[in-house]
Amino acid sequence: MDDTGRRTVLIIEDNDINREMLSLILENDYNVLQAENGREGLDILSEHGDRISLVLLDINMPVMNGYEFMDEVRSTPSLAHVPIIVTTSNDAVDDEIQCLKKGASDFVVKPYNSEVVRHRVDNMIHLREASSLIQVIEHDMLTGVLNREIFFWNAERIMRDAPDQDFDLVCTDISGFKFVNEVYGKEEGDRLLRQNGREIAGRLGSGEIVGRIGGDEFAFLVKHKTREAHEALTAHLNEALTGSFGSKVLIKTGVYHTGTSREERDLTAAAMCDRARQAIDIIKNRYNQNCGFFDDEMRRDLEFEKFITDNMEQALAEEQFQVYYQPKHRLDSGLPGGAEALVRWIHPEKGMMKPGLFIPIFEANRFISRLDYYMYEHVCMDLKRWKEMGIPLVPVSINASRHDFEQPDYVSQLDDLTHKYGIDHELLHIEVTESAYTDNSVMIDNCISELHEKGFRVELDDFGTGYSNLVSLNDFHFDVLKLDMGLIRKLGTDREKNILDFVISIAEWLNMETVAEGAESREEIETLKAKGCTSVQGYYYSKPLSGKDFEAYLKEKMNL
Ligand code: C2E
Ligand code: MG
Ligand code: MG
Repeated sequence: MDDTGRRTVLIIEDNDINREMLSLILENDYNVLQAENGREGLDILSEHGDRISLVLLDINMPVMNGYEFMDEVRSTPSLAHVPIIVTTSNDAVDDEIQCLKKGASDFVVKPYNSEVVRHRVDNMIHLREASSLIQVIEHDMLTGVLNREIFFWNAERIMRDAPDQDFDLVCTDISGFKFVNEVYGKEEGDRLLRQNGREIAGRLGSGEIVGRIGGDEFAFLVKHKTREAHEALTAHLNEALTGSFGSKVLIKTGVYHTGTSREERDLTAAAMCDRARQAIDIIKNRYNQNCGFFDDEMRRDLEFEKFITDNMEQALAEEQFQVYYQPKHRLDSGLPGGAEALVRWIHPEKGMMKPGLFIPIFEANRFISRLDYYMYEHVCMDLKRWKEMGIPLVPVSINASRHDFEQPDYVSQLDDLTHKYGIDHELLHIEVTESAYTDNSVMIDNCISELHEKGFRVELDDFGTGYSNLVSLNDFHFDVLKLDMGLIRKLGTDREKNILDFVISIAEWLNMETVAEGAESREEIETLKAKGCTSVQGYYYSKPLSGKDFEAYLKEKMNL
């Protein structure tokens, strides 16, 4: 389009009369350029290609005929998008077929009817401009590959159209991309993305597509390939892209093989992408593996996760979750001084499930807070019953997830339950796991203060599992320090015993009691006693017990 809004049409025709006629038909509405043969036309098109909206092309011409012209144009990427209308004689069906094969968009028949010519030209230009607008909307501006939505939409369509074909949906992740942006500048980052898109696109076959689905993430859909082929492609991407950045930049790919089963094919492309990304997560820190595959184990994990999520609501409603109690014994008297409430899921078909199987899933889907509330209430119910039975009560610790603290009324809910069942606040301890307060320390600190105000005691769980931060012991006011099993299990060398010594003396100095978790042997008990540890919770004394068994245990140990 020129400044006045007029579009330009190129007429390539060796016959002067025909050329002038076409020109006359169009020149009211268009700027008209003329060429006498294909070669001349090609020169004009090469020079003004971006200005030319359409070519009218004769077939039989000297120097370069219409077929040769079309071959040249279609194999030159910068020109290939220009629509071509071929001018033919009335009876040349073979010509038409030949032209269509070579990519002609439409025909006009000689002798020319001016109305027909004008409409064909108008329509074709309009159509092409509309579709190139769609092209822009569908493509990622920076890299030219499909954008996220269009990629997913097309991927689903392609898979639907070929139900018997196995596909692989592959995601790529550029680790160190932030580094490139920060150190080499955004320009280099953009270049890296464009090149990644180009390299992938260059490796695709027909009916295979690539899209940019996030900042530095690309996804592509290809017909199913061997592992080796995927590994080779990943190696190729790394070779092509990361050279100048050395080991700082690494491309990892994850492959999800769709299979052809109904259930798998019903997944959305976005869900398949998530799976491919999970495969990347698994190999993220493996330095010798850049291509990961979503495999049967991950499939089983996901199926299990689905089972858990599908059944959790019903389980809560039917009270399939039960409170187990693991006694804590004081090392001075040897008597039970408390217990930890641990959840067990008694599933009608699967039997008893340990929390390690489902708590991580509940943490991720936030169901954990409802379970924790349920546990808290059931502990209150048990304590109330034992109190009524005249059994000497010991404090019960309940585990709190970090998500519990995110609820603004968490502490007041516990307080309400405590009043409802008439339990003393000192009988309820809240265990906060070590990793929780490293995430959101201000919120946790406020919660601990609130709990203290109400009269609850707060224990720091799992101390020594890797997040250990002695400074935070001083900043947060825990009443009890629970030493993780890992610390107790490693009491072989003098050095290890010294560490334990050190931790216990700090706890004493900060006025905290210490509970050692997971002691199993007489020897461990003796060492812990010698170091001044307050209590032990471990198989040496007892495994976690059902409510009924714990009731009997208390009666026996307290000599009733
Ligand atoms: P935790 O709070 O550190 O609980 C201690 C875990 O160590 C329990 O595993 C217990 O059975 C186990 N244990 C205790 N003594 C020994 C021993 O001598 N040897 C061995 N090998 N293990 C011992 P469990 O019951 O499987 O619980 C695992 C984790 O699940 C708990 O770790 C806790 O973080 C979480 N959890 C359990 N119940 C709940 C709950 O109701 N709510 C929340 N948020 N988390 C819970
Ligand atoms: Mg605990
Ligand atoms: Mg623990």
